[in-house]
Amino acid sequence: MSNRFNVNGVMVSGEHFINGERVPSPNTFETRSPMDWDILLANVARGDKSTAKLAVDAATEAFPAWAALSPDQRSVYLHRLADLIEEYKEDIANVECSDMAMLFESLRLRLVPRGATNFRNYADLATEHEERVWHSKGTLNRVIRMPAGPAVIITPWNAPFMLSTWKCAPALAAGNTVILKPAEWSPLSASLLADLIAKANFPKGVFNVVQGLGSEVGNALVNDPRVKRISFTGSVPTSRIIGKAAAENIVPFTAELGGKSCLLVFADADIEAAAKKAAGQFDDSGQVCMAGTRLIVEESVKAEFLAHFHRFTDQHVMGDSRDTKTTISAMIHPIHIARVESFVQRARANGDTVVRGGKRFIEGKLWYEPTLIEPKNNDSEVVQSEIFGPVLTFQTFATEDEGVALANSTIFGLSGIVYTGNKERAERVGRQIRGGTVWVNTFLVRDLTAPFGGIGHSGLGREGGHYALEFHSDLKMLQILE
Ligand code: NAD
Repeated sequence: MSNRFNVNGVMVSGEHFINGERVPSPNTFETRSPMDWDILLANVARGDKSTAKLAVDAATEAFPAWAALSPDQRSVYLHRLADLIEEYKEDIANVECSDMAMLFESLRLRLVPRGATNFRNYADLATEHEERVWHSKGTLNRVIRMPAGPAVIITPWNAPFMLSTWKCAPALAAGNTVILKPAEWSPLSASLLADLIAKANFPKGVFNVVQGLGSEVGNALVNDPRVKRISFTGSVPTSRIIGKAAAENIVPFTAELGGKSCLLVFADADIEAAAKKAAGQFDDSGQVCMAGTRLIVEESVKAEFLAHFHRFTDQHVMGDSRDTKTTISAMIHPIHIARVESFVQRARANGDTVVRGGKRFIEGKLWYEPTLIEPKNNDSEVVQSEIFGPVLTFQTFATEDEGVALANSTIFGLSGIVYTGNKERAERVGRQIRGGTVWVNTFLVRDLTAPFGGIGHSGLGREGGHYALEFHSDLKMLQILE
């Protein structure tokens, strides 16, 4: 139990987890609580090249035996892990709440249980997969799905536990070994996941967690030629760097990146419901990749929409994420809130109108008020760039074509939200919105078997369901003369 820190009543290791063992590093970095930056939560191991090598050694060594297990045999481990996540969900929620400031109730009731579901889902999907077999031209033909090798999984700081399970489960189910590198701003829940992997008796080296900075240990991991898959979620600039490493080693790479999704509201919609959903985009302080941050509303219902929107936004409560009354959490890091502030400052300088918010809730703290900006025009930076904070823009349109054109006017294409009361329009506009996922009259209803990913600068490849299993596999065509 060396180098364990008491985080909100839960003992968490700040060390790496490599080959089934806790491994320290000579250097460490601090992780602090966004709710109270004076509170040091843990000193976390700051991995380097030698740490990356050790982890890839372990994952490479463990790979043949893990790959040789049948999907049924691997599923026993994954189900056991899912059971443990359910058993320890309060601990995980407590740690994540302190480390990232996500709302405790949302973690306990929704996001941590979804982590367990991710492992169950992939345990079952991998066992259900059947080889395609057929006869043609006098031969027996078989498509065999083979595990690919060690996979490096790199996650961002938002929703880190849920995202790490979403990304690690298909890799493990497909028969790959895993090296998880969590983000340095919220590294602790990955450490708990490693504890549960050990409790679930996974063979040594099958699942490893390496802590540290992206530019150091992350960079060393993605450049190791023994790594056979890279699955990344994070920002566009990092994706470019990792993509180059993947290209160098000819390694398949998926990238789940940022978004600037629309919330497109037609006059025929339930305007109150649409406005309520719009105010809901401030949840998690807007630190949600799929958030509908561009409100694009039919001109004729502008006043009605805004009246409802302000009423719902006024109901938000900024506070401690452990308090069940809180709806808006602190932002992750002083650097990040300063970045959000600078967006709003530049918007003001640009002549955009800050309709509400536009400042910190309490000077010196990390809560930022829910902010609405009417941009001077569609080229404004706040419309075109991902802010990743509680800042929405408001624009209007006169015709359906104009609304769709505005919705599709950024380099991103992660998702979109449409509100309309017309079924034909739902189908028509839903097809036209540029995004990997489009919701109509709802938001964030996730079916874990559905494909998930982005278009344009929102990403490469698809996760979810059998799409992620395919990514983590090499396909072989076996043809035998009959
Ligand atoms: P980031 O790109 O700064 O970091 C993401 C991860 O990459 C971190 O673990 C970091 O340490 C690592 N990294 C950084 N440089 C690296 C390098 N050279 N080599 C290897 N690894 C490196 O992103 P972030 O700020 O942590 O996350 C926020 C971004 O993630 C936003 O753009 C958000 O929209 C996006 N995101 C997307 C999804 C999705 O599913 N599409 C989900 C959540 C977040």
